[in-house]
Amino acid sequence: MNAEIIAVGSELLLGQIVNTNARFLSQQLAGLGIDVYFHTVVGDNPDRLKSAIDIAEKRAKIIIFTGGLGPTKDDLTKETIARHLGKELVMDEMALASIELFFRRTNRVMTENNRKQALVLEGSHILPNDHGMAPGMALVSAEHTFMLLPGPPKEMEPMFLQYGAKALADHHQANEKIVSRVLRFFGIGEAALETEIIDLIDAQTNPTIAPLAGDGEVTLRLTAKNKDEDKAHAMLDEVENTINQRVGPFFYGYDNTSLLEELTKSLKERNVTITAAESLTGGLFQTEITSIPGASAFYKGGVVCYSNDVKKQILQVNQETLEKYGAVSEQCAIELAENAARLFKTDIGISFTGVAGPEELEGNPVGTVYIGIAIKGKPSIVEKLTLGGTREANRNRAVKYGCYFLLRHLKESQNTI
Ligand code: ATP
Repeated sequence: MNAEIIAVGSELLLGQIVNTNARFLSQQLAGLGIDVYFHTVVGDNPDRLKSAIDIAEKRAKIIIFTGGLGPTKDDLTKETIARHLGKELVMDEMALASIELFFRRTNRVMTENNRKQALVLEGSHILPNDHGMAPGMALVSAEHTFMLLPGPPKEMEPMFLQYGAKALADHHQANEKIVSRVLRFFGIGEAALETEIIDLIDAQTNPTIAPLAGDGEVTLRLTAKNKDEDKAHAMLDEVENTINQRVGPFFYGYDNTSLLEELTKSLKERNVTITAAESLTGGLFQTEITSIPGASAFYKGGVVCYSNDVKKQILQVNQETLEKYGAVSEQCAIELAENAARLFKTDIGISFTGVAGPEELEGNPVGTVYIGIAIKGKPSIVEKLTLGGTREANRNRAVKYGCYFLLRHLKESQNTI
């Protein structure tokens, strides 16, 4: 099974926007076991779009379009495809009702143009738009599947994940169920992770293993096909176990979760409270943790201890520690975490001290970070990092590492906390 992605939009050709839709869809299609052979970009011009369709039909079974479903004159994807296939555009009452509701809710006046967005190709399967107005659609014939998706990624991506992928799987894998699972890793680079499992990647057929890196994390999308859905899940379990035997300590969660979400889940499950003493991160960890609704169940408060005076006077770090080892040290990180937990009467204290940059500090290079973790009844732990990025990147990554280390230590302590 192979596909071509046609992105429609003159802004793409003018270099005003990047074709991230093609990237997203290619990743998703790889996960579904569908090979993408071509990416095409064409401007808002019906003749050139028509010739792109003529070419795509000769070389792809599935043709996915993004963009040009909007209400304005240059949005002509549907019209051009309808003419090409000799199909009518018909009003989809459900889509129209949801567009009308959108205008009522936002107190805006709906124009005739907006009704145009509810026109769909006759005989197509509708893909609802939960984040915008124009519905997507899929039209299947013996020769080809045409799938039309909106241009804005915040509409297109959830539409594809929620409805588009299933429509493709239903039409093209009628006898087989496709199941997939994303494994999320932190603290290991893409290259290092790939090296650990390169033999599995090289030998992959079913399940497939698709690595993807971004935002300091690496993910692996595992996809299995089988007539029996339970068997497909068992196939995923097996490959996941093999992967985790090699890189298990870096694995932290499935699918769309985040480190912060997993950490707060873990704190709630254990019914424990936490405080933070932040020097390098200046309150970023606490901003993140309080962004979680219901954070008061586990977060009591904390201190931004930027200066040595605050470290000494408020967090009671020993003068001798600061003189002998400095503020950017293992010893200081431990005292900060332990003293914060004692002063705030919490089960856990976490501390961040280090050199965000751009200047080095106390002889420590930019990117040196110590994260202290004090867990009640356990020996305290310090993790040292050497990050070496920009000031902003170092601070953000330190917070992510803090979540990751704490999560790992909570997991390792199992039920003893
Ligand atoms: P709208 O209803 O917003 O007009 P549409 O389906 O007609 O949606 P376009 O008008 O083609 O889509 O594009 C709308 C916006 O979506 C673009 O300005 C751009 O920001 C984004 N966009 C479109 N195509 C792509 C693409 N291939 N990759 C990334 N972003 C895109």
